[in-house]
Amino acid sequence: MSTALRMTVPAGGRLTVDLRALASNWRRLADRSGPAECGAAVKADAYGLGVERCAGALVAAGCRSFFVAQPSEGVKLRSVAASATIYVLNGYTSGAAPIYFAHRLRPVLGSSEEIASWLGETGEAGEPAALHVDTGMNRLGLDLAEAAAIATDDGLLSRLRPALLMTHLACADTWTNPMNANQIRRFAEVRALFPSVAGSLANSAALMEGGREIRQDLTRPGIALYGGRWSAASNPLETVARVEARVIQIRDVAAGECVGYGATFVAGRPSRIAILSAGYADGLHRAAAGQEVAIGGRRVPIVGRISMDLTAVDVTDLETGAVQRGDFAEVFGTVIPLDEVANRVGTIGYEILTSIGRRYERRYLD
Ligand SMILES: *Cc1c(COP(=O)(O)O)cnc(C)c1O
Repeated sequence: MSTALRMTVPAGGRLTVDLRALASNWRRLADRSGPAECGAAVKADAYGLGVERCAGALVAAGCRSFFVAQPSEGVKLRSVAASATIYVLNGYTSGAAPIYFAHRLRPVLGSSEEIASWLGETGEAGEPAALHVDTGMNRLGLDLAEAAAIATDDGLLSRLRPALLMTHLACADTWTNPMNANQIRRFAEVRALFPSVAGSLANSAALMEGGREIRQDLTRPGIALYGGRWSAASNPLETVARVEARVIQIRDVAAGECVGYGATFVAGRPSRIAILSAGYADGLHRAAAGQEVAIGGRRVPIVGRISMDLTAVDVTDLETGAVQRGDFAEVFGTVIPLDEVANRVGTIGYEILTSIGRRYERRYLD
């Protein structure tokens, strides 16, 4: 490789992923899952943080079962988790059997059509499958009548060899919602039809808020592993992700001058404005009003419109010299919690993490 190609290309910012915190969060969730096994949802590239490194750390911590959404994610995961059990949540797409074979992926089958297609293409040679039963969310899953028909079809069962029966709660983030009790009760009815098949019900919220009955045999937390909040309550888990953007210019702006597209910010006083090399293409949501970043541990306001690649912040109140060209401003992480940013832009931590984008330098602490 030529010297030029070996040089580090400077990025507009960096994403730091604390793999020790990730492993520690998993151990905590595993303790709470016990005696059930604790798996991990690593779909969408481990919620945007990088599935290879995150799954590697989770395997080292003892995690053996993983949930991805799509087969391509399972293929990537298999390269770092040679002996893990990998469930593909979004069902089975016809024609994908060779991929499922080659990478030992287990489909989560959620309709009679999917079951027929899976068995037609893999026969008895396929991995054992999981069955997804809909208990009220009406997103994916077999309805109760379909599940009951399968449960009494011995021929079908012997070919399918279901390894897991799962359902998903619609309202786990508000645990007092009666939907939860209803879905748990329906799931118990379905499980009684498949007495020898393991069950799985709990995402992060259900695991943290629910009682023992939601643990079943395997839990599948996602957001809590990555340090995100699963409900309106405070979050006792460790921060895993930190996003920082580089200061690329600091400029003086006279009172009455404007900043950025649309001239929406007009300086009310002589101001110092720092320009960050990250914008909405890097997950700084343009919709945000009143957002802050942190420089040297101090909060400063974002001013004007966020552009695709650039964001302006008002650093007038920092001491002269407290911010220099080349410094980093925290977008979220240790000073500004992920969930605060999510709240300000009217979304959830899940969406903030999965929209971090591909342009940051990625650093993994282990
Ligand atoms: C994403 C997902 C999970 C994990 O949910 P979190 O709220 O992130 O813990 C679990 N189960 C299913 C079916 C999912 O789609």
